[in-house]
Amino acid sequence: MNNDKIKRFENADETFRCPICRSYLKLKEKSLKCENNHSFDIAKQGYINLLMNSKKQKLYDKSSFENRRLILENGFYDHILKEILLFLNNNSINKVLDIGCGEGFYSNKISQLSSRALEIFAFDIAKDSIVLATKEDSDRSVKWFVSDLADLPIQNSSIDCILDIFSPANYNEFNRILKDDGFLLKIVPGENHLKEIRARVKDKLNKEDYSNKDVINCFEESFKIIDHKKVSASYKLSTEERHALIHMTPLLFNIDMEKIDWNDMSSITIDAEMLIGKKLVP
Ligand SMILES: [Zn+2]
Repeated sequence: MNNDKIKRFENADETFRCPICRSYLKLKEKSLKCENNHSFDIAKQGYINLLMNSKKQKLYDKSSFENRRLILENGFYDHILKEILLFLNNNSINKVLDIGCGEGFYSNKISQLSSRALEIFAFDIAKDSIVLATKEDSDRSVKWFVSDLADLPIQNSSIDCILDIFSPANYNEFNRILKDDGFLLKIVPGENHLKEIRARVKDKLNKEDYSNKDVINCFEESFKIIDHKKVSASYKLSTEERHALIHMTPLLFNIDMEKIDWNDMSSITIDAEMLIGKKLVP
C-alpha cells in the first residue's frame, strides 16, 4: 500500500480511541491497534472503518452523487466554504472534525485552501461516501473514517473545532470530544434556501415554509451561541445545472417532476446560517 496513505494516521493515538474498549488506538504497520489488541486495518484507499454495528446502508446512488458533485464543483456552495475558511483561519484551531462529511467536499477544500496547518478528521456512516472522499484527496492529508455519530471513536476533549455542515448533531458527543475552549461550527439551511424550487412546488409540500427555529433552539440548549450569521447567495443556472439541482434535492424526491415546468427557473438561492458555539460549562 502507498506509504502516505498510512502516514496520515501516524499521530492516531493523540485523537482516536478504540470503539470497543475505548483505550487509545496506535498506528502499527497498516492498522490501528489498542492495548487490548483490537485491530482496525487501514483500507487500501486510505481510510479506517471504525463502525461497530454496521447497518445495511441504502444502495449508493451514482447519478445522485454526480449531480451533487456538479453543483458543488461549480461553486454553488462556495460562499459557505469561504465563511468556514475565514473562521478557521482567524482562530487558534488545529484539530478539526467534519461530522457526516459525505463525499468530503468541505474537508477536501479546507485541506487545500486553509492558510493554517490543520489536522482534519472526517467521517460518515456510509462507507461508499468515504471511498469517494479519499479519491479527491490528492495530497492525502485528511484522516477519513467510517463511524456512527452516536458513538464517536474520538478521545475526550481532543478536538478544537467541530464542523457540522447540513448534518444531524449529537450534542452529548460534541461536548465530550470538544476541548473546553473549542468551537462548534454548525451550518443550517436558512428560510430562503432553494426558494425558487419551493415556489414551484408549494401546493405539493406539507409545509410550505421552512423554519430552522427548532434546530437553533436545540443548539442553544447545549452550546452558547457566540456568533450567528447569514450566509446567502443567488446563482444563475445553466440548463445542465438546473437539471442536476432538481434531481439532487430531497425536497422533490416524492414529487412527480413531469408535471412541473422548470424551464423558466434561471437562478437559485443557497441560503444558510452559520452558528458558532462554545461549551456552556467549560
Ligand atoms: Zn480496544
